[in-house]
Amino acid sequence: MTELLYQTDSYLQSFEARVEAIDIENRAIILDRSAFYPGGGGQPADSGSLMLGETTYTIKRAKKVGAQVLHFVEGDIPMPDVGQVVQGKIDWTHRYELMRTHTALHILCGVVFRDYGALVTGGNMEPLQGRMDFEFETMHKDLVEKIEQAVNQEVANARPVQVKILPREEAFQIPDLIRTKINLLPEGIREVRVVEIVGLDLQADGGTHVKNTSEVGHIQVVDYKSKGKINKRIYIQMDAPGG
Ligand SMILES: [Zn+2]
Repeated sequence: MTELLYQTDSYLQSFEARVEAIDIENRAIILDRSAFYPGGGGQPADSGSLMLGETTYTIKRAKKVGAQVLHFVEGDIPMPDVGQVVQGKIDWTHRYELMRTHTALHILCGVVFRDYGALVTGGNMEPLQGRMDFEFETMHKDLVEKIEQAVNQEVANARPVQVKILPREEAFQIPDLIRTKINLLPEGIREVRVVEIVGLDLQADGGTHVKNTSEVGHIQVVDYKSKGKINKRIYIQMDAPGG
């Protein structure tokens, strides 16, 4: 079982871990703990490296299989032994852009629900760009600018972003969570990780986020598309660092 370090500390860039197993067929290293985000919830997986003495294993991506995180190794260098201790390091530029983008999408969710009552049905992201699907029959062109102003106001409001891991029963008591897909959580899941943009949005979510909406930076609402009478897809884009 891999302890998921990113769940409680999104800002952890490097860590020490013990090799728990090697998946020879997939050339993957399984660790007892990891800061690598293994993908999911629309957020792509992390890349980075694992260092063992003089050897550097380039990790092209991570993936969660059951309770384990697999770190896929680039190239064909000999794999480490079970029990060896490695130093892990994630590609922070890539990850931090995804943290800003993921939080931006939650701001969008919160604003669209608050101002128009529209529910989210899905979403996806790449570094500095993303899209969300809403049940949003009244969406039209003139709203693009309004929504853009409202989301940037929430960036300016510098709202704290809080992550909590709650017992399932407690999470089910939160009215805001019920409007998201919490009811779809499998029976066996005893704890629910909750991401709250204080005063704006609350979701069951496994992703990594910045700690304050001010870190997101300017959000551009670039476009929207009708995916039918009710379903609308809204696209956002973020500024590159220093841009
Ligand atoms: Zn999310």
